[in-house]
Amino acid sequence: MTDSKGLSAPYHPKNDGAWTREDIVPLLSLTGEKDLEKLFEQADRARKKYIGDRVHVRGILEFSNYCKNDCLYCGIRRSNSNVTRYRIEPHEIVEIAENAVNSLGYSTVLLQSGEDDHYTPGMIEEIIRAILERCDCRVALSIGERTLDEYRRFYDAGARRCLVRFETTNKKLYERLHPGSSATKNSFEERMELIKGLKSIGYQCGTGCMIGLPGQTAEDLAEDILFYNRHNINMAGMGPFLCHGDTPLAGNPDGTFEMALKMIAVTRIVCKDIFISATTALQTLKPIGGRELALQAGANLLMPNITPKKYRKLYLLYPNKVCTNESPSDCSSCVTRVIHSANRTVGSGFGDTLRK
Ligand code: SAH
Repeated sequence: MTDSKGLSAPYHPKNDGAWTREDIVPLLSLTGEKDLEKLFEQADRARKKYIGDRVHVRGILEFSNYCKNDCLYCGIRRSNSNVTRYRIEPHEIVEIAENAVNSLGYSTVLLQSGEDDHYTPGMIEEIIRAILERCDCRVALSIGERTLDEYRRFYDAGARRCLVRFETTNKKLYERLHPGSSATKNSFEERMELIKGLKSIGYQCGTGCMIGLPGQTAEDLAEDILFYNRHNINMAGMGPFLCHGDTPLAGNPDGTFEMALKMIAVTRIVCKDIFISATTALQTLKPIGGRELALQAGANLLMPNITPKKYRKLYLLYPNKVCTNESPSDCSSCVTRVIHSANRTVGSGFGDTLRK
């Protein structure tokens, strides 16, 4: 893909929405410096046209690292006995959220955890209600698979956003990575149905994949991008797979920063007005300058950590995670710096989806 003839086809923006896997794979396969520069510039232009210069910020609170699942890639999987487990009490979750909104100025609080049934639907409803009583903000949930009835209750309590990654659209790979998932529980189909169900409840739905999973191909990643438009997804959260030594995937290579950046750029070009985050996993591969590059290649969201410092080292989905020695206010001044150094402005308001 180095001659100018070869380049002209993929770089031509398709406005009819009829992107195919065959259009996308060559873009994901670009390697030359010049070609990549062109790709990222095109994504940046699309971002400016469809989204504008504002970067929205969501504070993420990792409130429990207990997990009943055993996903092969994840550092907090049930079988990893090297993890010291913690749970943050509901009243403390509410206090942390209050501080994030009322002191640090975030307009969205994203509550994330392992799959932890200790928090009953009633408790989660109460947490959502208590946060919304005290703060003018959006509450987003990233708590894994719960029934649609439960998610409907959380919506009724006021939650408006959800983040449930599909992880990979390759069913065989999904089943290999999620033990027990080919049975009737936690199946690939259930995960996909959940994402569709969340949209039908009315949630602004975020999803995404890991990039560079063992056995994953460029064709798989192209399908992941097509998934966003097919299901009118509001937000894409994608990050490189980072190999954790205490998991069955130990010894596999990490995903690359370059492929993660290409995924952001191509998603922007194909999906136009979707929100795309510069993820913590991406930042972990390039702690200095990584998020700025993502913002210049199509991303428009940042998710600074609001978890109290004492818990951060315990929520290690992957090793060398950034910001584990920082406090919520350190992370807040850091995101503002990143946004300004990428020549962008901090988004005001709730930063709701542009996709209806
Ligand atoms: N329990 C919730 C939240 C999961 S943690 C849920 O099931 O939705 C958030 C995300 O971290 C996961 O969806 C996964 O994509 C990512 N993740 C987990 N382990 C990882 C690893 N080793 N490298 C990169 N990303 C990882």
